[in-house]
Amino acid sequence: MTTIPREQLPTTDDQWKAKLTPDQYQVTRKAGTERAFTGEYWDCHDDGTYVCVCCGAPLFSSEHKFESGTGWPSFWQPAADGAIDEEVDRSHGMVRTEVRCQHCGAHLGHLFPDGPNPTGQRYCINSASLKLESEADAAG
Ligand code: FE
Repeated sequence: MTTIPREQLPTTDDQWKAKLTPDQYQVTRKAGTERAFTGEYWDCHDDGTYVCVCCGAPLFSSEHKFESGTGWPSFWQPAADGAIDEEVDRSHGMVRTEVRCQHCGAHLGHLFPDGPNPTGQRYCINSASLKLESEADAAG
C-alpha cells in the first residue's frame, strides 16, 4: 500500500466509516482504545513496516517493536522523523501525550516516557490503527 495523497483521503465521518471497520473507525477517527490483548498485533513478531490503516503512511517498523507486557503493540521509536504528531491529551482525568498519524490525523495511541533503551520512549499503539506490510508487500 502506498500512502494515499491527502486530497484523495475521506473528508467526512461517513466516508471514513465506509472505508474502515467499526473497530478501526472508533480508534482512528474517534480516539478510541481497543481492549488490551485483543488486537491483531500485540503479540506479532513478523518483520515488516506498520503503516497507517487509514492512509498507508509508514508509521512503525518491526525493528523497533518490543515486549511491553501491556497487550498493545509497543515501539521505542517511530519509523521515521515526522511520521507521527504528538499532542497533549487531557481526557479521562489524565495528562498524556497522544500520538497521531502526521499524514491523515488518525489517532494511534499514546506515548509514555518509560520505554527501553536507546530512547526510553514507549509508543503504545492500537492494533486497529495499523496494518503490517512485509518487505514483499512493500516491493509489490
Ligand atoms: Fe494516516
